[in-house]
Amino acid sequence: MTTTPAPTPMMAQYLALKAESEDCLLFYRMGDFFELFFDDARVAAQVLDIALTSRGEHAGEKIPMCGVPVHAATAYLQRLIKAGHRVAIAEQTESPEAARKARGSKALVNRAIVRVVTAGTLTEETLLDARAANWCVAIGEAGSEVAVAAADVSTGRFEVIACDRASLGAELARLGAAEVVAAEGGDAPATVWRPRAEFDSARAEERLKRLFAVATLDGFGQFGRAGLAAAGGLVAYLDHTAKGQLPFLRPPVLAAARDTMAIDAATRESLEITCTAQGQRKGSLLDAVDRTVTGAGARLLAADLGAPLMDRADIEARLDLVRLFHDDAGLRDRIRAALRALPDIGRALGRLAAGRGSPRDLGQLRDGLDGAWAIGDRLGKLSETPTLLAQLAPRLRGHGELIDLLKRALVPSPPIEASDGGYIAAGYDPALDALRDTGSGGRRAIAALEATFRAKTGIAALKIRHNGVLGYHIEVPARAADPLMAADSGFTHRQTLAGVVRFNAPELHEVAASVTQAGAHALAAEAAHLEDLTAQALAGRLAIAATADALARLDVAAALAKRAIEGGWSRPAFVDHACFDVSGGRHPVVEAALAKSGDRFVANDCVLGERSRLWLVTGPNMGGKSTFLRQNALIAVLAQAGAYVPAAAARLGLVDRLFSRVGASDNLARGRSTFMVEMVETAAILAQATERSFVILDEVGRGTSTYDGLAIAWAVVEAIHEDNRCRCLFATHYHELTRLAERCDALSLHHVRAREWKGELVLLHELADGPADRSYGLAVARLAGMPPATVSRAKAVLAKLEAGRAKTGGLAAGLDDLPLFAAAMQAEEEKCDAIRAEVEALDVDALTPREALDTLYRLKALA
Ligand code: ADP
Repeated sequence: MTTTPAPTPMMAQYLALKAESEDCLLFYRMGDFFELFFDDARVAAQVLDIALTSRGEHAGEKIPMCGVPVHAATAYLQRLIKAGHRVAIAEQTESPEAARKARGSKALVNRAIVRVVTAGTLTEETLLDARAANWCVAIGEAGSEVAVAAADVSTGRFEVIACDRASLGAELARLGAAEVVAAEGGDAPATVWRPRAEFDSARAEERLKRLFAVATLDGFGQFGRAGLAAAGGLVAYLDHTAKGQLPFLRPPVLAAARDTMAIDAATRESLEITCTAQGQRKGSLLDAVDRTVTGAGARLLAADLGAPLMDRADIEARLDLVRLFHDDAGLRDRIRAALRALPDIGRALGRLAAGRGSPRDLGQLRDGLDGAWAIGDRLGKLSETPTLLAQLAPRLRGHGELIDLLKRALVPSPPIEASDGGYIAAGYDPALDALRDTGSGGRRAIAALEATFRAKTGIAALKIRHNGVLGYHIEVPARAADPLMAADSGFTHRQTLAGVVRFNAPELHEVAASVTQAGAHALAAEAAHLEDLTAQALAGRLAIAATADALARLDVAAALAKRAIEGGWSRPAFVDHACFDVSGGRHPVVEAALAKSGDRFVANDCVLGERSRLWLVTGPNMGGKSTFLRQNALIAVLAQAGAYVPAAAARLGLVDRLFSRVGASDNLARGRSTFMVEMVETAAILAQATERSFVILDEVGRGTSTYDGLAIAWAVVEAIHEDNRCRCLFATHYHELTRLAERCDALSLHHVRAREWKGELVLLHELADGPADRSYGLAVARLAGMPPATVSRAKAVLAKLEAGRAKTGGLAAGLDDLPLFAAAMQAEEEKCDAIRAEVEALDVDALTPREALDTLYRLKALA
């Protein structure tokens, strides 16, 4: 019989910490390394591409192990987090000496998990993208209410958004969260599950009141119960990952999903607002617009484009600020130059507040706040002050005392590492200066001693050196060491190595001790100052965060002005009614791509209004239909985000919801049942679009057979025209749909122009009224390089098909007799009512089998 030996004390401690660290990889601190064991080691070794070794045995098996040096841990953490892992950090919570003193010579050092590093709770500069926000999101539910709480702990932003089940996906898509937390046992689309109790709204309220030290939460606005649950659950999770050292959170900003333009996940993906369908920033609207010069500005611009506003006054306020920079080139250039030089104070503050700050972060606050002041001064001299600027200006010129303090206290460029000292400026603390004098006086005395010892021993190669083990010592070549070995030489032997022998001497010992002591005291004094300065900076953290926000807002406005000038964009005007009147509109991403190859973009008008709400756009493939649809959707986004738009002029009525759908075959890469997805997404539009909405539909219906596709496209156009009554651009290659113009009075026909010239197809990318006269499919095939023989064969087949079609009246034959969508719906409803009435009148228990059968026949006849 074999017995499993009990685990060693260290293994027992490891296993206990591992049990506590849930689904995380455990970084177990051993001296200068973080070690990983068992499966953690296998996973990490593979992700990090480092050697997998083993150490000792557990339950009769070798224990797999790998390790990363503590000083390089951040880089390894970054790769593990990127690969989707979570990491628990177990630190030594006492020194080995303390452990020995307390519990004997073989005592195990105490360890504890001090932090859980997860994608949504990062503050480290190296782990974050400077130009993107990093949201950690929690979903709260209470009855039918749903809310999302979102925190970016790198800057302390904290939002709570009331939404509903239908718009939850849109909110999550807007935030693009790094982590989504929800209560265990629910069906929310989360990545992390936490105990249900943490989402209890009553406990959440208490937790929030404590956190923000307020007696009531009313000052923040009206939290719903779901909002409380979400906020409470989020704070509990952040507390959990930080193990009690809660990161910086500003008071929550409460919003409702309806305060911003609703853009669902499919629309975001299709319009590529902040990233492309492949998940890249390059190629997105954001990338084509972004001329910001600071990380915070880039983050704010992404947030603005992701959440266009619904309040006209707010939009106009942003536009007024853009106009200020648009019209005054000198001001714009000066402010942008000043902003470019500023450090990211929002994130520096986030690190300091999370207890991970460095002297350099304080230096960044000093420089950033000082720079903000100078910018505030410059803007204060303007003769014209737009409303938004009047709000921002006071936030720029503040923190005078803190700036002075940090200027006096810190050296010009403080280091990231605090451990070596050297960041407190000379003259700030006389006691520290004295310690430093002692230290440097001592070091001079030691240098002098070297000369003395050389003279005394006659050994020219004698040196005084310093290392971690011996401290200061005297070193001579081995061949010259003998005389110093003598008992009365005045030197004490310390160490013999291959070529050298090391000694100590009483004179040296004395001076060295004073140097070392002064150094240690100086370090301690600096550390105390660091703590004190950090506390003083953090006392004003809300105001500092507000300054950071103000700088970001200025950066965005100046950048949008710069972009508008570069592209000849214009300021949109807003009107009350639901019109969409764009002249000379362009697609910023396509235009930029064309410009690279020296091609010109053809601007097009789009005029939607009461009399013509729905444009049906036909024309050859590659003719520019998709581009036209999207450019108008993007213009709506830009305008309501408070930006100038790529058009000669634009008059718009606010858009409450924006929808974009693209026919399935363009999206094959998504690898789902694409036609099903297309239909589900289109159904969502019919259910949600209002008279204020803007919808673009690109070849919807294409993902199935011709007849099905045409039928679906037909019905969708009718429904949008009759029921939703929203503004809509519908691109299609079903020419049959143009017949709808006869019966839908607010529908008008348009096409992208093309011409055949000497047998070649020329695409003009220009919109014109009326339907396209033909589809040019074969010409496009030739353009695409299809062999001439195949093209002429296709021509012959087409001629046959068309002859057949003419005989039967064509694909859309008979459609003219169909009642309109609404009428069809009504007939359907009447039928249902009749069946319901029949069923309700039944007394099932009283029926004979014969009567039951008769009833079934009657019902069948009604259906
Ligand atoms: P469709 O949807 O009709 O198939 P697209 O909108 O995809 O056509 O456009 C095809 C290509 O034509 C684009 O990639 C672009 O290069 C070019 N294009 C589209 N619109 C324009 C325009 N207005 N001016 C110049 N080129 C354009």
